[in-house]
Amino acid sequence: MTAQRSADSALPASYWHATFTPPVPEDALPAEIDVAVVGGGLLGCWTAYWLAKRGVDVTLIERDVISWGATGRNGGFLTGGAAMGYGAAIDAFGRDAARAVWTLAAEGRDLAEQVIADEDIDCDFRAPGILSLSLTEDGLESMRRSLDLMREDGFAGELLDRQGVQALIGTPLGPEVAGGALAPDGGLLHSGRYLAAIAAAAQHHGARLCRAAVTALLPHGDGVMLSTSAGIIRAHRVIVAINAWSDDLVPGLAGLVVPVRGQILAYKPTTQVFPTGIGTDVTPTGEYWQQTPDGSIVIGGCRAEAPNGDVGVRDMVPTPDVTRTIEAVIPRLFPELDGLRVARCWAGLMAFTSDYLPVADAAPDLPGVWVTGGFCGHGMPFGPRVGQLLTEAAATGETPAALHPLRIGRETLTLLSPPDVLSEPGLVFGSE
Ligand SMILES: Cc1cc2nc3c(=O)[nH]c(=O)nc-3n(C[C@H](O)[C@H](O)[C@H](O)COP(=O)(O)OP(=O)(O)OC[C@H]3O[C@@H](n4cnc5c(N)ncnc54)[C@H](O)[C@@H]3O)c2cc1C
Repeated sequence: MTAQRSADSALPASYWHATFTPPVPEDALPAEIDVAVVGGGLLGCWTAYWLAKRGVDVTLIERDVISWGATGRNGGFLTGGAAMGYGAAIDAFGRDAARAVWTLAAEGRDLAEQVIADEDIDCDFRAPGILSLSLTEDGLESMRRSLDLMREDGFAGELLDRQGVQALIGTPLGPEVAGGALAPDGGLLHSGRYLAAIAAAAQHHGARLCRAAVTALLPHGDGVMLSTSAGIIRAHRVIVAINAWSDDLVPGLAGLVVPVRGQILAYKPTTQVFPTGIGTDVTPTGEYWQQTPDGSIVIGGCRAEAPNGDVGVRDMVPTPDVTRTIEAVIPRLFPELDGLRVARCWAGLMAFTSDYLPVADAAPDLPGVWVTGGFCGHGMPFGPRVGQLLTEAAATGETPAALHPLRIGRETLTLLSPPDVLSEPGLVFGSE
């Protein structure tokens, strides 16, 4: 792979792509392969990594550069859990399913840390914890309930009062901050360098990384025919990991996995004041930020400010209404932190589902194909473990039991129409 700008250079570059040039896959695309992985984002690269480590003949097919989608435009948080509080997840899915989902995320987070160490990956990984700020006493109570339930099930978390929060942050808190919840093992990293290194490690272990757009999947004998911009190829099994674009190749996911634009900006480097990742809910759809080792603050959220919460939007261009609202968050909560200057803003496509859980399952009506996506803005901890489990699906032809909570046929997964405005009920512990 060589480092190269995206073909679509009209889009504003994320902080990660402005400080690191993402690599372009350039291996030759073979006509016959055992396992094809479509998509060079987090899920595709991790799946290819595990398949290659197992010695499987795997080819990853990405239509642009590695990390061109959500992964190269995100907040760089390696959190735990899904896009809701643990208490809300128990209410919605039952205790066993909530525990199983949180376990997937915890295992994925630990796998990421392990492989970053094993493969000697330089991606600014650190695990200072992630702090969810509550701006109300009610919100703090709800965090307390989630934390109690999490601790009973073996997941770490600590409730902090206002003084406890202040002790972690290097600038005075504004009056609104009531307290918070700290996920002590929460991680932060440079998303571009991280994913490029996972892709390179996959290639080192034997994966082919190819550049082509896959335009259709068709059953073919006991395998699958892939129509691509570089010609027709055949694979024994296919794993589709294209997230916001899932319904392009898996029509059965139309309306179930829906694109949602996320907007984000980076301030120019400033004094280090935020050692942990931080999330809060100034707006109903939440905000999150991290300060990178060079002092840049990368902050996103506030899509409640956009028409329909940016649900169903398929372009990756930031809009002034949301950008302005993001810019008001830090001055409001930390009034003495001045001198913030926006360096760049950008947008990326998340993919949401009606119940805030991702899917990872056999693709409807497409024998030999598995599909994953719909991580609702929280894919980073899931990626390594879900990718690992998908390698078992490719090897055995059966979806592993650990992916059962993410099956497409679950009762809580229903059609979502673009006018629905989704809330993100909380970054780590959530309000309910
Ligand atoms: C603004 C924003 C902030 C976020 N912040 C966080 C965060 O801090 N923590 C967290 O856990 N999660 C976060 N997320 C979510 C997280 O980034 C995603 O869950 C995760 O990156 C999804 O990875 P993926 O591989 O499924 O999809 P993507 O990274 O979107 O990758 C899909 C890839 O498929 C390729 N592709 C699409 N169609 C085709 C085709 N037909 N043929 C070939 N290739 C194709 C695309 O080019 C793309 O590279 C955020 C997302 C956004 C947008």
